[in-house]
Amino acid sequence: MSSGRSFYITTPIFYVNDAPHIGHAYTEAATDVLSRWHRQAGDDTWSLTGTDEHGEKIMRTAVANGVTPKEWADRLVAEAWKPLLETIDVANDDFIRTTDPHHEHNVQVFLQKLYDDGHIYAGEYEGYYCVGCEEYKQSSELLDGTGEYEGQLVCAIHSKPVELLRERNYFFRMSAFADRLLALYEEQPDFVQPDSARNEIVQFVKQGLNDLSISRSSFDWGVKVPWDESHVVYVWFDALLNYATAVGLSDDPEQFARRWPATHVVGKDILRFHSVIWPAMLMAAGLEVPKQVFAHGWLLVGGEKMSKSKLTGIAPREITDTFGSDAFRYYFLRAIAFGQDGSFSWEDLHARYHAELANGFGNLASRVIAMVGRYVDGVLPAPGESTAAEDEIQRIVAEATANADAAIDRLALHEAIGSVWTIVDALNGYITEQAPWVLAKDETQRDRLATVLYTATEGLRALAVLLSPVLTTTTPVLWSAIGAEAALGALRDQPIRDAGRWGQLPAGATVAPLEPLFPRIELATS
Ligand SMILES: [Zn+2]
Repeated sequence: MSSGRSFYITTPIFYVNDAPHIGHAYTEAATDVLSRWHRQAGDDTWSLTGTDEHGEKIMRTAVANGVTPKEWADRLVAEAWKPLLETIDVANDDFIRTTDPHHEHNVQVFLQKLYDDGHIYAGEYEGYYCVGCEEYKQSSELLDGTGEYEGQLVCAIHSKPVELLRERNYFFRMSAFADRLLALYEEQPDFVQPDSARNEIVQFVKQGLNDLSISRSSFDWGVKVPWDESHVVYVWFDALLNYATAVGLSDDPEQFARRWPATHVVGKDILRFHSVIWPAMLMAAGLEVPKQVFAHGWLLVGGEKMSKSKLTGIAPREITDTFGSDAFRYYFLRAIAFGQDGSFSWEDLHARYHAELANGFGNLASRVIAMVGRYVDGVLPAPGESTAAEDEIQRIVAEATANADAAIDRLALHEAIGSVWTIVDALNGYITEQAPWVLAKDETQRDRLATVLYTATEGLRALAVLLSPVLTTTTPVLWSAIGAEAALGALRDQPIRDAGRWGQLPAGATVAPLEPLFPRIELATS
């Protein structure tokens, strides 16, 4: 069923040299939940992820490993990045690599147009360059080194010395776009979100913009500048264009018109690239700017940002091997307000897994299904007359559906899941109050028992649909167990914005026994 709406969402492309950690998986999981929700709502949805494979640092690492940069990237994509997507069950529509010939060609087409239109000029540049960031740093972004780097200037992000470089480069006249960018932030207040991120960007651009050096001639692992092949395109300029070349920029106008503009989910450390440089590039080319750039926060472990260099990197498999991909997706998107920093700890994960997934949701499903099996031989009874208790459940299910959808529109994933969870809590309370095990002992209460069992099972039907973008492996099991697969078709085909409409599961549906969706897990003590 089509809603007539279009939704195109992207993750940042992975820097291929990184080791996948839970920070990458967090971005992917969030983007995947958003795209699955929109797809199941009938929106014309496209989700893109991929890898960033050019630049000096990748070339240096490849050489150190005795292979070509392309061979190096091929290996990392196959052994690290595509497996990461499987580990957390991401259903992306496309995976772009910046070494794809199609991408490289269209970067050149884009660049040539900017050059022909006078947005690019040749100039001299001298500055402090961080190889880790792949960018020239302003003096405000440098610190005095300590320890082995005493007496040198180091990058504030990498804590490694920067190099003083002087190059004849090509420059993008980004300074010319400061006013138009400020007007954009003003006219579309949700262009950069959350508000804290937006304010930071507005302050930054208000100070005025420098032109951007967009080529390098000291190494050759990159897209060649079409009119001067002694230069390669600055890696960020190349990387940002992936969002557009992947959906047909320059060579498939129909696809481009259908998908563009995109919603970009990014980490806040790369917000400026996406909300300043990228829209300025698009403005220069006469193209529409993105729909939105949303910066999520950092995952903190022991108070520090997650990264390999800080030795706090946790591989997603360490979590999914024990807790499963559903718990990974649920935990990070529920426990952390999307857009703010959040702390990860094994204890918190373990506690929420048991309290919310195993006891809250999993146990609810098990109990309801077991009672339908025990009291009415696994055949869903037709409900009798509703009381205020049933009306209240129906109201909560309808309200949770509408609230969750509105929260998804704001990319407030934690609120969306929280809204759906009001159904879990309400159904648990309902069962305790209605006590079907008491009704089952009384022959005169058969009608009432039927109403309670139907209400609880129909509530599970709504939960399976609403949670399916998050809990991708357990909800189909539940769907099948309550007989919905046979009665209503595949879970992924259920229109999610319609999940709150009561009474979809027909009486007579066959309810089958269910293994625990979230078995108890003992946390190894060390
Ligand atoms: Zn750096």
